[in-house]
Amino acid sequence: MTATWDVDICVIGGGPAGSTIGRCLAQLGHRVCIVEKTQFPRSHIGESLPPSILPLLESLGLLASIEQAGFLRTRRTLLRWASVQRDDPPPGAPQGFQVDRGRFDQLLLEAARQAGVIVFNPAKVQLPASNPVDTWQIPLWINGCEHSVHARLLVDASGKAGCLGGIRQRTASVTLAAFAYWSEVPFNGTETRVEDGPECWYWGAPLPDGTFNATVFFDPDRYKAVGRNGLEALYRSLLAGSSLLRDCLHGRLVQPVHCCDATSYASKEPVGNNWIKVGEASFSIDPLSSQGVQTAMGTAVGAAAVINTLLHRPGSSDLAIEFYRTRQSEMIIRHHQLATGSYALQQSYYDTLFWKRRAMNQLEPHPHVASIALPLAELYPHSNVRLADCVRIVETGVLRNNYIESASALIASHWDRPVAFVHEVPVAEFAESVRQPQRVVDILGKWSNRIPWDQCEAILGWMWQSGLLEFQQ
Ligand SMILES: Cc1cc2nc3c(=O)[nH]c(=O)nc-3n(C[C@H](O)[C@H](O)[C@H](O)COP(=O)(O)OP(=O)(O)OC[C@H]3O[C@@H](n4cnc5c(N)ncnc54)[C@H](O)[C@@H]3O)c2cc1C
Repeated sequence: MTATWDVDICVIGGGPAGSTIGRCLAQLGHRVCIVEKTQFPRSHIGESLPPSILPLLESLGLLASIEQAGFLRTRRTLLRWASVQRDDPPPGAPQGFQVDRGRFDQLLLEAARQAGVIVFNPAKVQLPASNPVDTWQIPLWINGCEHSVHARLLVDASGKAGCLGGIRQRTASVTLAAFAYWSEVPFNGTETRVEDGPECWYWGAPLPDGTFNATVFFDPDRYKAVGRNGLEALYRSLLAGSSLLRDCLHGRLVQPVHCCDATSYASKEPVGNNWIKVGEASFSIDPLSSQGVQTAMGTAVGAAAVINTLLHRPGSSDLAIEFYRTRQSEMIIRHHQLATGSYALQQSYYDTLFWKRRAMNQLEPHPHVASIALPLAELYPHSNVRLADCVRIVETGVLRNNYIESASALIASHWDRPVAFVHEVPVAEFAESVRQPQRVVDILGKWSNRIPWDQCEAILGWMWQSGLLEFQQ
């Protein structure tokens, strides 16, 4: 029998991005379903979660359940990267996780279900060819039977599959990853291992089930030369060149060697009036940072606020859409710059095409807030300063209370985008009060009626260092 479900939002894909946005939207009172085609728990590459994910998990109320799941904890990375050799974590550094992605993703999906999301798993979606004006009518296949979901908004969280289609731009050199899980490896400890080679780089980490994932990243030509049948031999020969991972070869392969695409790319259009792409359906980052899961979940939180705005405050739709586009492209460039910076380190070390390609900046310079970094010491308490002529106050979109709202922001002629909040302070209001020349000590005194003194100093210091203030005799 054919069934029909009416929801506000249909999310396609139950990975970290899909579960996170589904749960956030259900918590905001929307009727949400998630359609996931692979029976959970399903395996997935991407098991290392650095400590930088902790605040996000905490803010989502998921940290305790992840901590209780028995994943491995680590604060240490063994790094052999150009001239950098680092083994020790900074004292007191927080601990990340080495997870089993099958269980991690299932925990997130279960948390979404508990928040009220209808989860179809396994179920596959066939998207309608065109983007509808009103309601999406989505054919859904469960156990070989066709059903239907009607939704006002569609979220594409289908990962690299990108079920909504659209143009995608490659943002880095094409890279393949060959990986395999090993048992009986002679390594102790829970640390991640990252190492460069002349024409590849390596990543490895132990997993909660006692196996070890050893991955090699390389140019696709090498795979083309050997083909599917030669993959294991190629993988083994590359692994033999690694000082940190070669001992895996003394262990036992528990599965055949896999090969997947690890190239970064970005969807040209991540959002429309009744659809949005989140996680890797929108963009993927270089695996070097091990921040794919964190980024997918983080963008899903912002996307939930965008959808909440589209549904409840249609008058702010343009603001919300622009907010999402801008934030996406900022993140793409930030991650790209971090990766190319790390790859550029290699150029003095290995003069090979592999590293040259990856050190190249392949993206247009991006909107950024230039830091002029004037020395703070020049700002004396009795200095007379005022807002520089290059500064204007404009309106911009910000995420506030689960909506994208308009807020006053500062923009300087040497910046490409406005800034609304610094240390959570609405800086435009404070900047407005220094249009006329005043002594530093008087400005701080005036501001301290509204915010603590140390915050006043931090904001004024930031304005000075960013070139937003000028001396006045
Ligand atoms: C080699 C490699 C190593 C990596 N290492 C790390 C790492 O150490 N740490 C890290 O944080 N990240 C890592 N990443 C990145 C990380 O795996 C991804 O960023 C993350 O999985 C993205 O989450 P997502 O929810 O967007 O997509 P996914 O996790 O891919 O989830 C998408 C889901 O959509 C489902 N789906 C697809 N099509 C349909 C359909 N038509 N109908 C229904 N369901 C559908 C899929 O089955 C899947 O479950 C790595 C990536 C690679 C390639």
